[in-house]
Amino acid sequence: MTRNAELYERACRTIPGGVNSPVRAYRSVGGTPPFIERAAGPYVWDADKQRYIDYVGSWGPAILGHAHPAVIKAVQDAAVNGLSFGAPTEGEVQLAEMLCERMPSIEQVRMVSSGTEATMSAIRLARGFTGRDKIIKFEGCYHGHADSLLVKAGSGLLTFGNPTSAGVPAEFAAHTLVLDYNDLDAVEAAFKEYGGQIACIIVEPVAGNMNMVQPKPGFLQGLREQCTRHGALLIFDEVMTGFRVGPQGVQGRVGITPDLTTLAKVIGGGMPMGAFGGRRDVMAKIAPLGPVYQAGTLSGNPIAVAAGITTLRLIGEPDFYARLETQTARLVKGLCSLASEAGIPFSADSVGGMFGIYFRDTIPTSLAEVSASNVDAFNQFFHAALSRGVMFAPSAFEAGFVSAMHDDAVIKNTLDVAQAAFAEIT
Ligand code: PLP
Repeated sequence: MTRNAELYERACRTIPGGVNSPVRAYRSVGGTPPFIERAAGPYVWDADKQRYIDYVGSWGPAILGHAHPAVIKAVQDAAVNGLSFGAPTEGEVQLAEMLCERMPSIEQVRMVSSGTEATMSAIRLARGFTGRDKIIKFEGCYHGHADSLLVKAGSGLLTFGNPTSAGVPAEFAAHTLVLDYNDLDAVEAAFKEYGGQIACIIVEPVAGNMNMVQPKPGFLQGLREQCTRHGALLIFDEVMTGFRVGPQGVQGRVGITPDLTTLAKVIGGGMPMGAFGGRRDVMAKIAPLGPVYQAGTLSGNPIAVAAGITTLRLIGEPDFYARLETQTARLVKGLCSLASEAGIPFSADSVGGMFGIYFRDTIPTSLAEVSASNVDAFNQFFHAALSRGVMFAPSAFEAGFVSAMHDDAVIKNTLDVAQAAFAEIT
């Protein structure tokens, strides 16, 4: 028995499914998940000492590659001074200043410990600010696992064919209007029917939880216009895309100003960290200034803040995103031409350091199109690549991530493996 298999068996005795987050269990692709012992740069190593080129990147945070020496040093230096104080620190002020400076739509920001907390708090704030209850979300977009957002969410829920979680009372979900991504007509119709009751639209401005799906031209602009017209707030959930697709997230790429933005992943540099922020008049409604309650024992944790500040400093260097985008595009282009040579229906797309691979002829623009891809071919490709030392996300419904350490040699190595993997698909 491999050490991975031993650990998995042991894990399953005390942890449901053997994992602390469902997609890690490899249920949809089958097989035993590798247990990771360590990671450095573009690589992770499992308990059987197998090395993999990693395109999961901790599901987004590892934009600098794993265990970047400057981030590790910042964490070590911070830890020596104490792990948590439950009191304000200069570091969190510095991180807040960096976030506000880098993302101009954010005038004030509050730190939390995860993306789920960030979106949950932003929704409560939007409701508190507008005095309205209903929210609009899009099918296939995942905004964490808070009750009202766990309705037709993507990611793990799609992977397990269970779009809405059990345990969410119908009354809680009743205020969540779920529309199709990229369907602006549906948004207009919803506002026509419920205009005065809609507190906000929350959207992944590039969706990364139904594989990767880009907004059609005009979609995000249309959301902005509808929200402004009807007095609802526009929330960009940039937990995944923030500082991943460019220095100002999707909002910087498309030039649209949301009222609120949620962040996590990259801004914590691999430590538990999230944030929500935006218009000053909206943020003024949060306790202790206003009536919307939100709090956290570990919010603004000094170790997470130190990792976040160092990460933001490093990704702020000139040409960082140009290089990341080039490497990601190189990977995607290479995969497309190899699949075409192998005669496999395949397409792929990328934005900044984020990509999607689809076992279908054309790049999808909706959840329905993603769902119509060949999941069996993906699963075969996934395992053929994994057995040769390349780790993609273990589901046809997840996006992939490239880091600054995925240099030409790493991409070439990946493409050599992919060539062999495509050849194995039956
Ligand atoms: N929002 C988006 C867009 C995400 O991709 C995720 C997680 O993948 C979340 C929210 C939830 O973040 P967390 O897993 O940190 O709670």
